[in-house]
Amino acid sequence: MALLPALALKGADAGAVLDRLDLSRPGLEKVAEYHKQGNDSLASVALLDYFKNRTGVKSVGVNAQKPRLTKEERRWADEGMEHKFFVHKGYQPSYFYGDDINWQYWPVKDNELRWQLHRTKWWVPMGKAYRVTGDEKYAAEWIHQYRDWVKKNPLTEFSGIKDKNMENVDNVYFAWRPLEVCDRLEHQIEQFELFLPSEHFTPEFLIDFLDNYHRHADFANSHYSKQGNHLLFEAQRVIFAGSFFPEFKDAAAWRKAGVDILNREIAKQVLPDGVQFELDPGYHMAAVGIFGKALRMMDANGYRGEFPDSYLDAMRKMVEFTYNIAFPDYTLPMFSDNKLHVKPGMLSNYRSWRKFFPKDQALRYLATEGKKGKLPDYTSRAFPDGGFYVMRNGWDSTATVMVLKAGPKGEWHNQFDNGTFELWSGGRNFFPDSGSFIYGGDEEVLKQREWFRRTAAHNTLTLDDKTLENRVSKLLKWETSPSGDLTVVETPGYDGLTHRRAVFFVDKKFYVIADEAYGDAAGDVALHYQLLPCDPLENTVKKSVSTAFADGNNITLRVFGADRMEAEEGWTSPAYRVKHARPAYAFRTDKKAGKPARFITVIYPTDAANPATHDIKASYKGKPSATGATLEVTIDGRKYPLSYTL
Ligand code: MG
Repeated sequence: MALLPALALKGADAGAVLDRLDLSRPGLEKVAEYHKQGNDSLASVALLDYFKNRTGVKSVGVNAQKPRLTKEERRWADEGMEHKFFVHKGYQPSYFYGDDINWQYWPVKDNELRWQLHRTKWWVPMGKAYRVTGDEKYAAEWIHQYRDWVKKNPLTEFSGIKDKNMENVDNVYFAWRPLEVCDRLEHQIEQFELFLPSEHFTPEFLIDFLDNYHRHADFANSHYSKQGNHLLFEAQRVIFAGSFFPEFKDAAAWRKAGVDILNREIAKQVLPDGVQFELDPGYHMAAVGIFGKALRMMDANGYRGEFPDSYLDAMRKMVEFTYNIAFPDYTLPMFSDNKLHVKPGMLSNYRSWRKFFPKDQALRYLATEGKKGKLPDYTSRAFPDGGFYVMRNGWDSTATVMVLKAGPKGEWHNQFDNGTFELWSGGRNFFPDSGSFIYGGDEEVLKQREWFRRTAAHNTLTLDDKTLENRVSKLLKWETSPSGDLTVVETPGYDGLTHRRAVFFVDKKFYVIADEAYGDAAGDVALHYQLLPCDPLENTVKKSVSTAFADGNNITLRVFGADRMEAEEGWTSPAYRVKHARPAYAFRTDKKAGKPARFITVIYPTDAANPATHDIKASYKGKPSATGATLEVTIDGRKYPLSYTL
């Protein structure tokens, strides 16, 4: 037998780590025997041997035998070797963290940059690079960095993160924020699998790894976030820990805690219509991913059964919601903190969700790009609990689709945007949401975030350009038929001002928006509209704006009832810290106390050579009424009488 290094482990105490394992499990006999004899050095050798030959435990992440290393991941891996750590796509090129790594380096005071360093996103790419190239330098460096992280980021007293004055808080609040801890729990499984064959993965390192990993799972399981998507991520990842390392005595308890949380939270966070309560399409999809991953991990390791049917039923509704609000090019509205998700990622989501819902023909159609399955036999659909109303005339690239958002208060990622919409037609999103640009940080960062969150950055109505004081909307009417749709929602947005918005999808061809703002308040009432980046044709006399794309796919928008039309600052942010200037307008009127302000907006998709030449007229018929409205719209001489009764 080769000489073993003396048991002068600088790292973790092997005996203590071994005590945390259930050594009565099959395959661990030798480990148990050595440990009983007090020879933890040999026990560690036997334990490494056990893990290298372990069968029956499966992970659902990266395929360690045949990993796919993208060009981008290769760069992250190689830059990681030079301590240029890939922390965040919004901060590129990556910063250099020092030859002697400074895990507290914080070049821009954006909290995400400091938190996400501790997700060590370049370690899995290093593992893949190791497997793909066979070059041991990746393994040696990973182990060096892993131990360096453990040494420099000890878990000291932790009483919960304080979200104010982040510059004054201790490092432990960044390194050990539960969300980051759980991120590592999931991805260190992948690292473990990728690097396990390396000669650098010694018995001593195994002990260090298991010690650190157990500390993570134990901490996570006793420091769950109170609510929201963080809690979902945490529960899923604790389930991963309990499933991938069933050797820990605590593993069953971890799995049970995670499953209990997900069962409880899916009932709480997923509204009856299937919308996740942060009202953010991106986090909604992340939540579907979490629920699905937890199920797959449990399934793969034979622990299925703890999830009731209602769990899958909620997931099914979440999936249906997703493809209903998706546009035919597979993008989703960028409401709340969502970013632009493009087709390849959406296709892979649809494909992975198909495993749970093989009978859903629409999902099958979308996942196969129309090769199999079939589209829903409906077009428009309401999700009244989440407050999303889809008014569409088809599912293919020639379709016109509006997704209107006016729901409950929502949770953290939800913005102050009640009444807003995105409108996609013929392959173009004419009104992309402003997005979110950035999350939280110091004053400078927060100021940028606020610009995108505020009501006036959306396609809706404001009083004195203020952000909504109350963002609970209610649905007053929803009708859909082959000849047209109608949605009427109401938001008592400000003290003394209620906004009622009726959207008609007339003949399923164009939209007429009847906005009425009533109440005691007096002031500047404005409708805001934000176009996609383009060079539009404006007419401030007619209070009209049209796009002028050479391909002939255009819209013209005209507002009636405003005193003046003004250009505003406009931005749309498809990705973190990326923003594009775009035309935006306010259509304003001075509202008198007690008298309502009434507007009509016509948005007309057209292929006319000059969209601005359409002759559009609109007016209300009769006095304002609490029980409905009647209006008449004329387009190029054709009259469209429109009305609704509540
Ligand atoms: Mg927004």
